[in-house]
Amino acid sequence: MKYILTLNAGSSSLKYSVYRTQAGAGLELRAVGQVDRIGSENATLILKREGERDSRELGEADHARAVEAILEICEPHMQGAPVAGIGHRIVHGGTLFDKPAVLNSDILSALHRLVPLAPLHQPHNLSAVRAAMSSFPDAVQVGCFDTAFHRSQPWVDDTFALPREYYDKGIRRYGFHGLSYDYITGELDRIDPDDHHRKTVVAHLGNGASMCAVKGGKSVASTMGFTALDGLPMGTRCGQLDPGVLLYMIAQEGMGHNQIRDLLYTKCGLLGLSGISNDMRELEASTRREAKEAIDYYVFRIRRELGGLTAAIGGLETLVFCGGIGENSATIRGKVCEGMEWLGIEIDPGLNAAGAGIISTGRVTVRVIKTDEELVIARAVDAALAA
Ligand code: ADP
Repeated sequence: MKYILTLNAGSSSLKYSVYRTQAGAGLELRAVGQVDRIGSENATLILKREGERDSRELGEADHARAVEAILEICEPHMQGAPVAGIGHRIVHGGTLFDKPAVLNSDILSALHRLVPLAPLHQPHNLSAVRAAMSSFPDAVQVGCFDTAFHRSQPWVDDTFALPREYYDKGIRRYGFHGLSYDYITGELDRIDPDDHHRKTVVAHLGNGASMCAVKGGKSVASTMGFTALDGLPMGTRCGQLDPGVLLYMIAQEGMGHNQIRDLLYTKCGLLGLSGISNDMRELEASTRREAKEAIDYYVFRIRRELGGLTAAIGGLETLVFCGGIGENSATIRGKVCEGMEWLGIEIDPGLNAAGAGIISTGRVTVRVIKTDEELVIARAVDAALAA
């Protein structure tokens, strides 16, 4: 019996899951939790296990202290068995990784060189790796990359129409949310092994949101590009934007890099449009015109992208909704599917309201699947331990 830990590090939070693995029994989720307010003087640790919730005040904590605290709170539940492997969600694998990798110092240096491509996420991911390596020196450390699933995209979807030298410098459309898409395509194969899932669009609608066209299990096109800003509007991110807007902001509004970055990442999307909230539940509950308009724009962009992604794979057989909004909001699913009979999409309102596994009645199978990025990471660690 061994334990596997998965870590998903953000700037001020560290989410974790603990799995037990034993020969023949597969992976069993034993606990989940989160350290919040990392970098402040009042970080907190939460552990949820077998219906119980335990929390601790950590005081001042960086990622290294957070990892230590996770070990301290989990160890008593591990019956003396070791943490054999740790899986890390790493946002950017650049062009280097199309699958998970066992991490060593050379790979860490290569991943460090990708920091300029994901300055808001990659440094925190790598801090967690370094902390885990020092707290668990004997454990196998595996990196799982949000970009890896999209490495199969053809050149036309990998590039921008910039002069070629920029492509060679790495200014490409990497795509993100790959762990979620990996899980969903695996689930489609498991649920319906006889279907070859030739033409599938997956809508991962969470606080971050993107869509991916998948053909025969491989990513062909996605709405996120060079960074996780592109494509759909999100909780606080703008989604697709004419680059001329940025030129205008620089020239006419006198805005600098940091102001523009903060605007695009933290003040736009549902929050910016509504002026009320980035949380879809609040917008759905609101009677204000701005909330309705924010939802209208959100749905409109999903429907536009659905058309484009369908064209990229030459048709549509399966549409999957996942992520916090995709899994839970019958309203958004209903609005996305409304009037889409021309594409073969028809859904049953009752099945939709119930969040059934299949909500469609038309030619296109419309599914609601709860995504599980942590399990994809744990499986990668399990495979590395077995190798
Ligand atoms: P993250 O990208 O941070 O993992 P999630 O996948 O948890 O985010 O999605 C968060 C979003 O899901 C929020 O906008 C939240 O309002 C929305 N959401 C969760 N439950 C519901 C619900 N029942 N109805 C509508 N939206 C929901």
